[in-house]
Amino acid sequence: MPIYSFNCKSCERNVDVFVRNRAKVSEAKCPACDSQDLRQLVARVARVRSANERLDEIDVSAELGALEGKDQGSFAKWARKMGDRFDGELGSDFSELADKADAGEDPVERFDAEHTLRYRIGKARDENNADSMDDYSI
Ligand SMILES: [Zn+2]
Repeated sequence: MPIYSFNCKSCERNVDVFVRNRAKVSEAKCPACDSQDLRQLVARVARVRSANERLDEIDVSAELGALEGKDQGSFAKWARKMGDRFDGELGSDFSELADKADAGEDPVERFDAEHTLRYRIGKARDENNADSMDDYSI
């Protein structure tokens, strides 16, 4: 039976409620105070799933195709773009790599951009999964 998480506005508890079917969600009651003034919380498992779906949607070969050349300048431009799009989501460091390349440092990540990108996607996925494991270890 699906469990939905709510925040009860009356007693301010976060509560889990068994709901027989989705249509009955609006009839859910707080098990602590019987209030129906509940705000549904998005399940963490669902959030992790959608984060991983977004990661799956990253088309690695297309992203690598946007890399115009093997030189440092091209890498800096590419890493800057990748940083704008993915650093917030992946917790990656593309902007930092772009800064380094712009500053004349030659980041080792430049030599295998594909590995650099795949590694960061994998790491973000591992972190998401570790996050969802927390739900079961209470
Ligand atoms: Zn309550």
